[in-house]
Amino acid sequence: MNIIETRDLHFQYPDGTKALNGINFIAKKGEMVALLGPNGAGKSTLFLHFNGILKPTKGEILIKGKSIKYNSKDLIEVRKTVGIVFQNPDDQLFAPTVKQDVAFGPLNLGLDEGEVERRVKESLKAVGMEAFENKPPHHLSGGQKKRVAIAGILAMEPDVIVLDEPTAGLDPIGASQIMKLLYELNKKGMTIIVSTHDVDLVPIYADRVYVMSKGQIIKSGTPKEVFEDV
Ligand code: ADP
Ligand code: ADP
Repeated sequence: MNIIETRDLHFQYPDGTKALNGINFIAKKGEMVALLGPNGAGKSTLFLHFNGILKPTKGEILIKGKSIKYNSKDLIEVRKTVGIVFQNPDDQLFAPTVKQDVAFGPLNLGLDEGEVERRVKESLKAVGMEAFENKPPHHLSGGQKKRVAIAGILAMEPDVIVLDEPTAGLDPIGASQIMKLLYELNKKGMTIIVSTHDVDLVPIYADRVYVMSKGQIIKSGTPKEVFEDV
């Protein structure tokens, strides 16, 4: 099943910048998909379309086979299905403790306390941050903040997690730890879409790769297909 599909997606920012110029992208259930491309290629802009934050100028997005209609009912459903981890964890972490931060999303869903507690524990465990639950997030290292931001999205129990440059700003060990964590989540059944500059890590972990440049997909396929002639 295609969890996310875009058809001939175009997007122009209000200042006239044409950030997406006909994107056809598919993520299937259970896949780990990597999106590569230089700064300014349009990766973040594409991701912001995946959960309805941005609305295409032209083309459409299908979530689980259904075209997003941009009414509030659709958007709530889409945001439950697709969770986005933004590039800068400081945009996402603002509660006094790690635990409260991760609880924020599930509480917003209106879940009862017991269920929120269960999800927070499970998500922090999945990212290996249980020991930090009472610490203030802004005192953590970059890699740890990234893990907490990921836990916050996991706690929403989405079908897909989309991560914008999750290894940016991390040292090589931290970066490979994050990719490994994503790989483990993927093995447990989570669909993962990740943009990254870490070309070395992608062939190891991704099922499929898209390469973007200037708002277009210039290459796609298995890591082997995409990398063998570069
Ligand atoms: P990437 O994530 O690959 O670095 P972006 O999606 O951030 O690429 O940017 C794609 C293009 O859109 C770039 O030319 C960028 O400068 C432009 N852009 C991004 N955000 C905005 C914005 N809010 N307003 C106008 N142009 C933008
Ligand atoms: P990324 O590589 O993740 O897209 P950027 O540094 O390109 O990060 O963008 C950081 C922020 O600046 C984003 O919120 C983006 O929307 C905004 N931005 C990027 N390019 C422009 C632009 N040309 N005009 C206005 N805002 C922009």
